[in-house]
Formats: sequence, C-alpha cells, structure tokens
Amino acid sequence: MQVATGKSILNGIAIGPIRIYRKEDAQLAVTSTRTAEEELSRFEDACEKAKEQLAGLYEKALAEVGEENAAIFEIHQMMLDDDDYLNAAREIIERQGATAEYAAATTGDNFAATFADMEDAYMKARATDVRDISHRLVNILTGAGEASHLGDEAAILVADDLTPSETVQLDKSKLLGFVTRHGSTNSHTAILARTMNIPALIGVDFDDSWDGKLAIIDGYNHCVYVDPASELLNTMEEKRQADLKQESLLQGLKKKPNVTLDGREIKVYANIGNAADVGLVLQNDAQGIGLFRSEFIYLDSEDYPSEEKQFEIYKRVVETMAGKKVIIRTLDIGADKQADYFQLDKEENPALGYRAIRICLTRKEIFKQQLRAILRASAFGTVSVMFPMIISVREVRDAKDTLEECRAELREQGVAMGEVETGIMIETPAAVMIADELAEEVQFFSIGTNDLTQYTLAIDRQNPKLDNFYNAFHPAVLRMIRMTVEAGHRHDCWVGICGELGADQTLTETFLRMGLDELSVSPPSVLPLRKCIRSLDLSKTPEN
Ligand code: PEP
Ligand code: MG
Repeated sequence: MQVATGKSILNGIAIGPIRIYRKEDAQLAVTSTRTAEEELSRFEDACEKAKEQLAGLYEKALAEVGEENAAIFEIHQMMLDDDDYLNAAREIIERQGATAEYAAATTGDNFAATFADMEDAYMKARATDVRDISHRLVNILTGAGEASHLGDEAAILVADDLTPSETVQLDKSKLLGFVTRHGSTNSHTAILARTMNIPALIGVDFDDSWDGKLAIIDGYNHCVYVDPASELLNTMEEKRQADLKQESLLQGLKKKPNVTLDGREIKVYANIGNAADVGLVLQNDAQGIGLFRSEFIYLDSEDYPSEEKQFEIYKRVVETMAGKKVIIRTLDIGADKQADYFQLDKEENPALGYRAIRICLTRKEIFKQQLRAILRASAFGTVSVMFPMIISVREVRDAKDTLEECRAELREQGVAMGEVETGIMIETPAAVMIADELAEEVQFFSIGTNDLTQYTLAIDRQNPKLDNFYNAFHPAVLRMIRMTVEAGHRHDCWVGICGELGADQTLTETFLRMGLDELSVSPPSVLPLRKCIRSLDLSKTPEN
C-alpha cells in the first residue's frame, strides 16, 4: 500500500480504480517498429473507434444542446471518411515507415495549415476541425485519452493539473474523485469539485505506476491510499456508507424554513455552473440559484455559444426552478477561466487584467448575445442578472444601458420577457468603498468573497504556495462584508454572499448578525448550512 498526502477540497471518501490522465504533447514515436500493414490496421481501427466516440458525442449533444450545436460531431464523422485525408495519412505510414499516430498528427497539421490559408471562411474554419479529429485519433492510438473520456468504468482521475474547462467537460457519472499534483484550494477547479460533491485532493505527488490500481481518497485526512490493505478498505467503505447515511438524514431538513431559533430568516440559495447542476439544486432543496456561473457554458464550447444555445440552457434552468429565483451572472471569463476562441492575450497579471465585465463592455456583441438570451429566458420564470468584477458606477450604468438596449430590441421584435432584477457582485475593494453609490444603481449585491479576499489581501487565489496566507477570516475581509451589508441596506438593496465563505459554518452566526439576507453555496452545502442556521439563537449574547 502507498500513502500520499495533499490538500483536501471536499471532506469525503471516494473508492475506485485510478485512471491517470496524461495531457498530450508527449513526444510521438515517428518510426514504427511494426510492419506497414500493422500500422495501417491500427490507423483504420482508430478511425472506427473515433467514429463511434463521435456518434456518442452527437447523441449526447443532441439531447443536451439541440441539433444545430450537435452538427459539428456529424461533420467530424464525415471528415473521417474523407479519402484525401485518409490517403494522406496512409501514404505517410507506407512511404515513411511511420507510426499511425505520427501519420495522423502530421496529416492533421498539414491539412489544418492548408485550410487556414484558404480565402473561403467556411474552409478556414475547417482547420480547427481537422486538428480536432487528428487529435482524437492520436489520443486513441497512444491511449493518452482526454480528461473528459474517463473510460467505461467509474474511476478516480489522477492528473498533473485540471483546468476549469477540462473539469467542466468531465463525465460526472464516471468520476468518483480526482487527485492533482498542482492547483490551489480556491481555484475554480476546486469550486467545481465542491459543486459536484466529489472528493478531491490537490498537491499530491503521484507516479505512473498508480494507473489502474485501486485507491481511496480520504478527504478528511488529506490523503490517498493506493492498493489499500483490506482492513483499511473495509473501514473506509464503512465511513463512506456513514457519510451517505448522514446525507440522507439531512434530507429530512428539506422544506423546513431557514430560520434561527429566535425567528431570524435567511435565504439559502445554491451556486451552479451549468444546467446539469440543477438536479443537485432540487435534490438539496435550495430556495433559488444565487450564482449561475454562466462562463462555464463558454468553457464547455468550442466556439462562442449562440444566443439560441444560451437561451435554451437558461430557459431549461429557469423552467426547472419553477418560479424560484435564478441569478445569472454574466460572462466572467479571463484569468484562470480561458477559452481559446476568445483569443485573449497572455497577460502579466491576468487576475488584474482583461476579464469579466471589462471584456463584456468592450466586446459588446458577445455581451448583447448573452443578455438577449437571459432576457428571453426571463419570460419563463424569475430571473435576475448580475454583473461581475465591478469597480465603478460607470461600468454598472454602461452594463444596464446595454441590457436596456437589448430589451428594447426584443420588445420591438415582439419577444416576451419578464421582470429582471439587476445586481452586481461585490468582489473588489473599490466596490466596497463606493457601495453606497453602487447601491443606488441596483437591487442587490452578492459578495464574491473568493475574489474579494484575493484583492483585499493581495493574494493570488491560484497560487498554491499562498494557500497558507489566504485567510478568508482576515478582519479586513469581514469588515468589508459588514460595510457592504450596511451600505446596501441604507439604499434598500438586499445583500448576499456567493463566494465560498458563505458555506463556512463557523461564520454563519457572524453573517446573520451582520444582517446578510442570503447565502448562496454549493448545492451539497445547502442542507448542512440549513441545519446550522436552525440551531442558532441570535437572542443570546455572542460568545466573545
Ligand atoms: C467570488 O469571487 O467569490 C465568486 C463567487 O466568483 P468566482 O469564484 O467565480 O470568481
Ligand atoms: Mg469572482
């Protein structure tokens, strides 16, 4: 048995086989030690397997995002039948004695370069597609795989690092937990693990021999056991079962009001990253969605998601929530959340850079596409819109003007819309300091404690070396939260928290005493938080 330690992201136990995800870029073998016939047959098999994968992806996309968006997987399947492409790869194998993976990669690069040079916009766009299918073939041939293709069996994923976009694409039904060498506890990847209720460890030194072995993630003790002894396995399985029982006991709190013993009420909402998370919201009986991180729709796409695609997703969430509030945060891309097609420049200080509202206010066509989709979805339930990373009144007015512009256009077209409450995230010290002015502009504030802590303490939330310095309980942060609540309430603006601190039960009493109106937390934290709220008595003098 091997034991490795790291930092836990979620207290929980996961038991299952390990699957190591190696990012590609490994050097491909050029010259084959097999015969050309053998390599050709490997190539043909890989093409068949790729077509099967694509057919599966097409069905999944068809069900989730509709025909228009699923069509890309059909195009990719057709490209795998294209004689020019196939013959070019076969030639490389036969003439150069090359491996099938080298032939696939080289053909992909050659065709992509040729397409990219063409005048025709449609053909230009095919460059990405041909790269994609070649990449898929190389993955199949080298067994490198993609994080999102976990294999048939549910597994614990082990990787050097996982970006938010890789994490969002993981097949959650096959993911028991994950372990990474890099990453920080405040990153978006960590937040996604909490939302998915998946035990995860970061900062773990692993080696390739782990692949395929049985392992236990013990989130309580920040460690992973590989090839565990049978007694330990039994003990951990019992602990896992006990956790499941505890979770089902918490289910008994469903439908009970979120009131303290002395009658103070607070709303408990949930944070989500995509439409599939709504199931968790219902299961945990949140009163609404306090933060829909809409950028994950963008991270899960190969290109800008169309207004139609976004509308379908927002509508599905809003309809499923059946009249309960759904707060959609507008695109908060940039910093650690990168999508290639945005073509954002590399920056020295991305967290302080071109991100979130700064992108939206300068690339209005993208912003308007999203706002129109949100406004259209508002006809189907209770929708609020929330702008991230605000530092000035001017930005809020500009964002609201753009929202009004979209509303006017849609009205002109006779499109139905509902009332839409507007709010902003308070996640910069600047926003706290001018909270009185900002509160005049909006109906609510939601405090993003993850970024507010990062910017107040000048500590990069992505940097694992600083995890020990990142103190979300710092008096400066708590004072900022109090100032925000007071300023909001002076102007009839309700105030909530949607950062990770909202779920910290050691602060729940403090937050209630400060007068917060709402806490929005990951879905699995809703019921434990409700239990905590219902046990508090604010009429008693607080200890110390
Ligand atoms: C925050 O900053 O606290 C927040 C909720 O937004 P995100 O974590 O997505 O940056
Ligand atoms: Mg933030």
